[in-house]
Amino acid sequence: MKKLIIALTGIVYSFTSFSQAPYELPKLNYGYDAFVNNIDKETMQIHYEKHHAGYVSNLNKALEGKKFANLPLEVIVLNATHFDNAIRNNAGGHYNHTMFWTILTPEKNQKPSEKLLSAINNDFGNFENMLEKLNDAASKRFGSGWAWLIVTPDKKLAITSTPNQDNPIMDVEGPRGLPILGIDVWEHAYYLKYQNKRADYLKSIVDIINWNQVSKNYENALANPFLKEIEKDSWKELNNFHEIMAITFHSAEKGNFEPIRTRHMELAEKATALKQGTIPASFNNEVVKNAVEKLEQETQKMCKIASGKKVTDKQLMEQLEIVHKAFHDLSGSCEH
Ligand code: MN
Repeated sequence: MKKLIIALTGIVYSFTSFSQAPYELPKLNYGYDAFVNNIDKETMQIHYEKHHAGYVSNLNKALEGKKFANLPLEVIVLNATHFDNAIRNNAGGHYNHTMFWTILTPEKNQKPSEKLLSAINNDFGNFENMLEKLNDAASKRFGSGWAWLIVTPDKKLAITSTPNQDNPIMDVEGPRGLPILGIDVWEHAYYLKYQNKRADYLKSIVDIINWNQVSKNYENALANPFLKEIEKDSWKELNNFHEIMAITFHSAEKGNFEPIRTRHMELAEKATALKQGTIPASFNNEVVKNAVEKLEQETQKMCKIASGKKVTDKQLMEQLEIVHKAFHDLSGSCEH
């Protein structure tokens, strides 16, 4: 759970779209029959009352008694791949469906805002190309999952897809970022009307996309500091180092020095990989560079000390604390 604590230092988030546990089904802004030409009434009702409601109640059950239950849903989702599947699937399920209902509208012929459209033109050539890519991502997703239009940490738009109830906030394959539009391609979203013809469902759903809402989501995503957290979470070398450091340091705190005595080489290798790797764009500044440098030096020193024949637990602890502090200095320096 260390990762969560790190993810939460330094930034005061302003989450507006999602509440905290215990979660409730969000109200719909339309009736189940709002889209009868595109999505039938029964599908809407089952999708909302059974599927989404199921994710909500199973999420609440899975979070019961957990220390991190009060964290914002986005933070739980960001760390979802470190939790058991009940939390991962149901937190994702609740997040994804909450967005899904809002990006549909019975109002026909909505268009993206000028600002969003200009970003779409920049990143995809034109609106039709973007739709084509989205459709492609949705139709090629094997089995159940989602297709997404997201804002990446470098503030660009990207299209991606994820399996099951995962989403691009999580540590998943492909580009990561904040979703501004998500299309549910689970069979439960279309089977009654379209049976196995996912392509027909996709063709039809494009007509009921709430571009006013997607445009708002775009503005909010651009201004959301949480994008930086996703970027930081995508820094593999930092995570790899952290994993070994957490094991060695926290064991030592409890008086068990076996992990640092046996894994100091591995820790040093991770520090070297961190130093040689690429620092994510938002954090690529002198302060962070120096913090990486310092962490690497102190970890090499740790390695040297731990290799010594007569090294005492006290000596190990002293240097481990220095390494641990250097790590948190680095982690903290990414928040500025
Ligand atoms: Mn669904």
